[in-house]
Amino acid sequence: MDWILPVVIIVGTVSTMEYVAWAAHKYIMHGWGWGWHKSHHEERHGKFELNDMYAVVFAFIAIGLFVVGQWAWRPATWFGIGVTLYGILYFIAHDGLVHKRWPFHYIPRKGYAKRLYQAHRLHHAVEGKDGCVSFGFVYAPPVKELVKQLDENKRTDRDLVREVQEEGR
Ligand SMILES: [Zn+2]
Ligand SMILES: [Zn+2]
Repeated sequence: MDWILPVVIIVGTVSTMEYVAWAAHKYIMHGWGWGWHKSHHEERHGKFELNDMYAVVFAFIAIGLFVVGQWAWRPATWFGIGVTLYGILYFIAHDGLVHKRWPFHYIPRKGYAKRLYQAHRLHHAVEGKDGCVSFGFVYAPPVKELVKQLDENKRTDRDLVREVQEEGR
């Protein structure tokens, strides 16, 4: 039964990380951290963008946890695995599925993947750092709710919202 606690810690860390990432995205990246994140809301030139530095920061946190787990406090390893797994989910859902940084492109037509895809596309429907919606990377609110929120926001790019809605059909 030695595996129960590690599994609980890993699953708990992955879900907590979605909350941490949501809060970091909403309050840091769209706040004082906009300097790095701005590059993600503009067209990308080349393979990387300054915003990727956030992934590097989280990678260092994971490495730090593995080091602590190895030398000082064993359970830190399980937290490190949780942070790493979340990073993989982020990479698949956000960088791959939504922003098409994979060598192949796939637009989900149904189910949760479609909702996640549309929700993050709507995050990019507002120009600049203020008035954006949907800050999570793995959990996505219902698209209807987001469109309603965006409608209340006068600075929304209506063409993009329409494009996202049509893409999902
Ligand atoms: Zn953003
Ligand atoms: Zn994005």
